Amino acid sequence: KTAVKFVGAADTDYAEEESRKESQQALQTVRQQLGKTYLPLINGEYVNTQEMINSVNPSNYTEVVGKIGLSSVEQAEQAMQAAKAAFPSWRKTPVQQRAGILYKAADLMEQRRAELAAWIVLEVGKTVREADAEVSEAIDFCRYYAMEMERLEQGYNYDVAGETNRYIYQPRGIAVVISPWNFPLAIATGMTVAALVAGNCTLLKPAETSSVIAAKLTEVLVDAGIPKGVFQYVPGKGSQVGAYLVNHIDTHVIAFTGSQEVGCRIYAEAANLKPGQKHMKRVIAEMGGKNAIIVDESADLDQAVMGVVQSAFGYSGQKCSACSRVIVHTAIYDSFVRRFTEATKSLNIGAAELPGTKVGPVIDANARDRIREYIEKGKAEAKVALEMPAPENGYFIGPVIFTDVSPNAVIAQQEIFGPVVAVIKANNFQEALSIANSTNYALTGGLYSRTPSHIQKAQEDFEVGNLYINRTITGAIVARQPFGGFKLSGVGSKAGGPDYLLQFLEPRTITENI
Ligand code: NAP
Repeated sequence: KTAVKFVGAADTDYAEEESRKESQQALQTVRQQLGKTYLPLINGEYVNTQEMINSVNPSNYTEVVGKIGLSSVEQAEQAMQAAKAAFPSWRKTPVQQRAGILYKAADLMEQRRAELAAWIVLEVGKTVREADAEVSEAIDFCRYYAMEMERLEQGYNYDVAGETNRYIYQPRGIAVVISPWNFPLAIATGMTVAALVAGNCTLLKPAETSSVIAAKLTEVLVDAGIPKGVFQYVPGKGSQVGAYLVNHIDTHVIAFTGSQEVGCRIYAEAANLKPGQKHMKRVIAEMGGKNAIIVDESADLDQAVMGVVQSAFGYSGQKCSACSRVIVHTAIYDSFVRRFTEATKSLNIGAAELPGTKVGPVIDANARDRIREYIEKGKAEAKVALEMPAPENGYFIGPVIFTDVSPNAVIAQQEIFGPVVAVIKANNFQEALSIANSTNYALTGGLYSRTPSHIQKAQEDFEVGNLYINRTITGAIVARQPFGGFKLSGVGSKAGGPDYLLQFLEPRTITENI
């Protein structure tokens, strides 16, 4: 059964010369705007801040993409008060009107597609193609959640003779959205517009390293007609402003996507009832993964090699869905490793904006250093099958493939979030599945196989939120592959799926004796 008929936005076809020109043009236009200042939007006004930070291009860190005004705790409090003041009228605003703002935002993003993609390329180092797909995802979130709210508004009717029973949904109140940098537009948009269309006043605290793109989302929402106080852009330090908003007694919903460490902390802090607080907070926390692809002895190796390369090294392995473990049957292990390393060697590493680039930079110096440490740990516990060199002028790391990795090794258990893959040997399919399930995470997983019983078994027992059979494990599409995990990969229902908006709503039953 399909929930709602939904047609997603089409990605740009870069086979068309016109599209390639437009993309180049957009990159040039955006380059001319680098270094501008972006300030918090509080109660409909852009406000000055005491503290500023530079957001730099990870492909070339001497290039300042934008200067970000960091909100203080006092400003976060002002945003909270403005949100509270705006709530009574936003919750009464008809769904059609709220949804109308999302449809308008989607149209505006469609018009600004090439430019928004260019900002993504320059601020977080995603290749043009992947940045363009991300803009599609953001557009889809707007349209899909608008449609979903129109569906939910109908509520349910359980009338019996002499009694009407209405089941309806109302907004929860104030939503705090805390977003990551790796899908700086799509994830920030998805969480934000879901909260808004459900009737909640929403504060967005983006990751520091992607605050310019969040400012672009702010422009779009303002242009689409979001009333003042209903949506506010509150860039700032996660540990300070983020934590303040999480702990605030007036916060009803926290929509977080990011690391397991921060997600668990937010979950715990939100559970503490503070003096004066009259409700329990709802937390949606989408966290990390240690995603595995199993390649069994019946797999089509050409397909498997291509799929693993793309899943592991797309956006330098910095997708929560990325493949970081490959579990390979002994019978084909040597030939898989040989072909996988050969295929990886052909990937171009370089600046994200260059058309031939397949592996761009990682997000910042911290990430680069953390990944390097993991590579060192890996060298102590496994064999290096490939370590590719990388340019120096940006935060680049060449793809690394470790082989003969023990399933319990650090590099096989912890999320590295970089272009590093652990290849693990399995003697049979059951063992492969047990190894796949042996981490704390359950986000995405894949299987390359032509054995129906294996495919069946994976469907039953592979512990992941999104299972992909005989294809890549990244690139989930709204309303086609609703996305999200369980175990320590997250709590909450899947983004881009039919249960997502329910988390931002309070159901009520109204019975009238007639
Ligand atoms: P992160 O370090 O956890 O940061 C996420 C957000 O939390 C940022 O906005 C950060 O602000 C903020 N934050 C940090 N400390 C906080 C605190 N004490 N209280 C409140 N907020 C706080 O994650 P990231 O590096 O941006 O993103 C990468 C992670 O996200 C990976 O683990 C990846 O797997 C996961 N992810 C999961 C999904 C999914 O759908 N499951 C999707 C994408 C990414 P600052 O930037 O200011 O620190």
